[in-house]
Amino acid sequence: MPRDHYEVLGVERAADEKEIRKAFRSLARELHPDVNPDPEAEEHFKELAEAYEVLSDTDRRATYDRYGHEGLKGQGWSPGFDSFSNFGDLFSAFFGGGGSGGGPRQGADLGIAVDITLDEAFSGTKRQLDYEAVTGCETCDGSGAEPGTSLVGCKQCGGHGAVRTVQRSPFGQIVREAVCPACSGAGKTPEVPCGDCGGSGSRESTLSVEVDIPAGIDDGQRIRLAGRGNAGSPGAPAGDLYVVIHVDSDDRFVRDGEDLVCVVDISMAKAAIGTEVVIPGLDGDIDLHLPAGTQPGTVLEVSGKGMPSLRGRRRGDVRVIVSVHVPESLDDEQRASLEVLAQTLPDAAEQQPGLFDRIRRALGGAAGSN
Ligand SMILES: [Zn+2]
Ligand SMILES: [Zn+2]
Repeated sequence: MPRDHYEVLGVERAADEKEIRKAFRSLARELHPDVNPDPEAEEHFKELAEAYEVLSDTDRRATYDRYGHEGLKGQGWSPGFDSFSNFGDLFSAFFGGGGSGGGPRQGADLGIAVDITLDEAFSGTKRQLDYEAVTGCETCDGSGAEPGTSLVGCKQCGGHGAVRTVQRSPFGQIVREAVCPACSGAGKTPEVPCGDCGGSGSRESTLSVEVDIPAGIDDGQRIRLAGRGNAGSPGAPAGDLYVVIHVDSDDRFVRDGEDLVCVVDISMAKAAIGTEVVIPGLDGDIDLHLPAGTQPGTVLEVSGKGMPSLRGRRRGDVRVIVSVHVPESLDDEQRASLEVLAQTLPDAAEQQPGLFDRIRRALGGAAGSN
């Protein structure tokens, strides 16, 4: 059973068109597969698009209100995003790509990549970022008109902010509306263009922002700073700034989600008699006891010492892989001791599975062999 469309949009049943559009826009910006790496985002986005397609249309909404999902199906309607030819169009219709209809144009989104260390990802950090963005011109306050002069109706679009083109196709006429190139959708143009920005109302400047990078962030994740992108045309909101995090590789640990994996090297003698090792954790040393008879490739888990979770207070684990080192050269004394041992030690373990069994198990052929 599909979810209730109002619930998907997070609006009241009495919500008006404006509220529905607003809810859709803000959710779509979060869930759009182009900006949300979560694999479930695409499904949520489709669900959202369907909810919006129904609730933004007066007739469909009325049918849905009365008869629910079944009612729409009964009328032969199915979610096909027929008002948008594809997701790309849907996206650009709302997010600064111009799109259908008039009205001031929203500023474009911007992206910056930031490199941090694993320690910074562990504890969280802040970064001061400088970046180039289109901002409103201060001289004319973004209007594009020389101070003291006024704006007049745009001649190209007659003040509508949009221009129409009509194309003939085998299916009939296709009417497209596009943002007016002369006034960028504002419907007005300056009588005398501002001397500082040439009438565009905007200019390139270097902006600075401090971004909070939360503890637990992973490589490739993005932080959205709303309204920090390019300025929109007068009266329209600015785009967003996406900060893409790149976590540098670390000499001590390989990250596996919230877990940290490391390798500890011990000599074959210590593996046999047991030893204590110290793992340099991200928040202090971890003391680890390796019991006598520790085998090469043994994995020990230290719970709760891994990366913090982005949501909640849980922490991942540290997994320690034991590597047993066989000496490549020996002095005379060492050699003599080992020769004595070699006469008494068995070559293969009697109780634990031998190497072949372990290889077989590792290859997935566990069944049958003991
Ligand atoms: Zn115009
Ligand atoms: Zn200006």
